[in-house]
Amino acid sequence: MDTLGRLEPVTLQSKDTMEQGFSFSTLKKLAAEPDHTDVSLTAAERVRALSKMGCSIEINEEITPRRYFRSGVEMERMAAVYLEEGSLENAYVLYNKFITLFVEKLPSHRDYQQCSVPEKQVIIKKLQDVAFPRKDQLKKLLHEKYNKEQTEYLKSQSQAVVADCCGQQLQKMSLVEQERQRVAQLRRMQMESEQFRYFEDQLRRQELANRRDEAVAKVPEQTDGACLSHSSKNHVHLDPNRNKQLLPSSKPAATLAGVHNQRVEGLRRVVIPRDLTYRFLLLADSNTARGIETCGVLCGKLTQNEFMLTHVVVPKQSAGPDYCDMENVEELFSFQDHHNLLTLGWIHTHPTQTAFLSSVDLHTHGSYQLMLPEAIAIVCSPKHNDTGVFRLTSSGMGEVAGCRLKGFHPHSKDPPLFSICRHVVIKDSKITVLDLR
Ligand SMILES: [Zn+2]
Ligand SMILES: [Zn+2]
Repeated sequence: MDTLGRLEPVTLQSKDTMEQGFSFSTLKKLAAEPDHTDVSLTAAERVRALSKMGCSIEINEEITPRRYFRSGVEMERMAAVYLEEGSLENAYVLYNKFITLFVEKLPSHRDYQQCSVPEKQVIIKKLQDVAFPRKDQLKKLLHEKYNKEQTEYLKSQSQAVVADCCGQQLQKMSLVEQERQRVAQLRRMQMESEQFRYFEDQLRRQELANRRDEAVAKVPEQTDGACLSHSSKNHVHLDPNRNKQLLPSSKPAATLAGVHNQRVEGLRRVVIPRDLTYRFLLLADSNTARGIETCGVLCGKLTQNEFMLTHVVVPKQSAGPDYCDMENVEELFSFQDHHNLLTLGWIHTHPTQTAFLSSVDLHTHGSYQLMLPEAIAIVCSPKHNDTGVFRLTSSGMGEVAGCRLKGFHPHSKDPPLFSICRHVVIKDSKITVLDLR
């Protein structure tokens, strides 16, 4: 749902317009959607670009209105965090989305009228008391901010014109001086490339060391649990290149401590506590021994534009060797509401199979990911000492959205429907496991 920070798709003008002899820059402006980060635009244009981001919501009729209401409760939670942290743009987009979803889109859902859940009243109240007033308030603040930025931009532009005049004078420099500078420049470039090679080499070494560290850190404590007793190593599927993007170990992350808005492939990062799977597997132990699946919901918080996984809630459930259905979700919801928690995905075991997403899992995860693009599916395979952190690819989301089949059924295989998450980081942070069974 969130496309903040990314450009909208380019909409090309018709051929007729192209031939009317516009200048290149005019054409460029016509071809691209206005970008809210463009300081040369007027405040009104930038705010409009942001509002537009808040309109990009599609409703899927296969998903119950209740699920949307639950998601709305969490959207409002996230918007409040952004507001508190002074992230005006993110808050503004989210309140716009909230309003679009519950005023324009959801009421046309085929099951909307019959749906009477407590969240419906909560959302209507939030619209009146929170979303609309805050949206207006934020609009005002953004206008002020952008006006100031444009004034500064225009000032710097006029200074640049003065600087340009000086530049023309310099062109009259003697040929000797130019040659001297050219040689100096060459020397500088040579030095820089040597330095670059050195840093590259250092980085490669550090990466290797990190990987070694991680391999050591992955070894869980030995337990008496029947299914875990043979676990000598608990391997977590993560992309081999992820160090380049994610810098998951403590050392490189420290250098990025000040960078809060870093996204990976357009997604906000999700921090996973290191001993989450170990703790979950302990709890699933007796089911696993009988070859029965166990599932839980991953909950957490949003801070500095990053999701921190803090709780695993294991609701009442009915399960078998290859399925696991949650029951009595009211308990889960009230726990989440009480602790102000967001739904960040789900976790389940494959007692006999490897770690992957089955056709049923793909459908289950599709609706998590529709509500939150960053949602993750953790699959633990105690038998194979393997854990995977997955999400659906865009082909996977498309396939699931268009598939009405239930139970286990075939899907297309190429391109892949799910992939290993690259927007997750494993850290030594606290995890609370709550068993409601
Ligand atoms: Zn599964
Ligand atoms: Zn399907």
